[in-house]
Amino acid sequence: MSETGLVAIFTGVRRPFELREFPVPAAEPGTMVVRLTMANVCGSDLHIWRGTYDVSRGQQEPFCLSIGHEMTGVVHELGEGVSVDSTGDPLALGDRVVFQYFLNCGECRSCRRETTPRCRDGLKYRYPPDQYPHFTAAYGQYYFLRNGQAVFKVPDNVPDDLAGPANCALSQVIDGLDRGQAGPGDRLVIQGAGGLGLNAIAVARERGVSQVIVIDGIDNRLELATAFGADQTIDLKEFPTADDRVKRVFELTEGDGADLVMELVGSAAALPEGIAMLANGGTLLEIGNINQGRTVTLDPSQLVHGGKTVLGLMWYRPQSLQAALQLLSTSAAKYPFEKILSHHYPFDAIDQAFADQDSGLIQRAALLPWELGG
Ligand SMILES: [Zn+2]
Ligand SMILES: [Zn+2]
Repeated sequence: MSETGLVAIFTGVRRPFELREFPVPAAEPGTMVVRLTMANVCGSDLHIWRGTYDVSRGQQEPFCLSIGHEMTGVVHELGEGVSVDSTGDPLALGDRVVFQYFLNCGECRSCRRETTPRCRDGLKYRYPPDQYPHFTAAYGQYYFLRNGQAVFKVPDNVPDDLAGPANCALSQVIDGLDRGQAGPGDRLVIQGAGGLGLNAIAVARERGVSQVIVIDGIDNRLELATAFGADQTIDLKEFPTADDRVKRVFELTEGDGADLVMELVGSAAALPEGIAMLANGGTLLEIGNINQGRTVTLDPSQLVHGGKTVLGLMWYRPQSLQAALQLLSTSAAKYPFEKILSHHYPFDAIDQAFADQDSGLIQRAALLPWELGG
């Protein structure tokens, strides 16, 4: 067996990726090999590239790391015993699939108690690309999918441009709003109208949330938020301080505050601000602050006096990815997803893709692993 494929290796903060060829592993029993057709640059990949989200685990540059987690592809090889996806639908070679980018062990205490999908060992198999099975992240031509990673067939009417980001942003906000039990009667504030925020508006609308208020400071994002169905927007330019914005949320909610706030900005200061926006009994869904080491001053009496909850979320349950595909298949046309589609780059233009997204030139880059610009 001499089949090989390329991996784009992350070598360090703002350093060029290194494209290297590795042998494609054979599918072991219970696993499958996916031939990737698209891999996106997500906000968290950008944080890694900028050095604000540390994944080095003490390694010195140049690293040899596998990164990237938003992807879609086609079944390349099915291991022994693998014949269906996670809903029981038969799988065949060439079928388009999306899958969880992490693997819950199913055995640790948090997995057994099902309190969070954030398994202690969930990235245990994200080996460096020079180790077998070489293809363990999105920036490669193949992906070695392990037993236990939820995988779903992509409906025919969902193009790669929509399916590619489904296993991160959309599934994450679906899981968050589900854990927050968002529904009719609820007033929701979304902090940040980036990819997560816009997806969250669509999900909130599909769940029948009564009022959606979106906060951002970039005109284009605020316009998109309205186009996705936000009832009101709060522009940071018009409401420059946290106090201004908290006051505005209370004005817009008949003096009660929000039942749910989603923190999707990734700024530590957004947390106390979001808590202050909550109505008594409300819940803040903390999703955006993935970068370690940031701190903020917080008056915990806000939580006690208001009976408020802060729920941290990372990763999602399999049913949330299934729900993401269903939403895209049945309801995508209701929302202007086409306006947030990715810009496509050949695989070997990965450095350019990161640089363009970093500069704000484009909202989201998608790599085409089988296109090589030369
Ligand atoms: Zn992501
Ligand atoms: Zn576990």
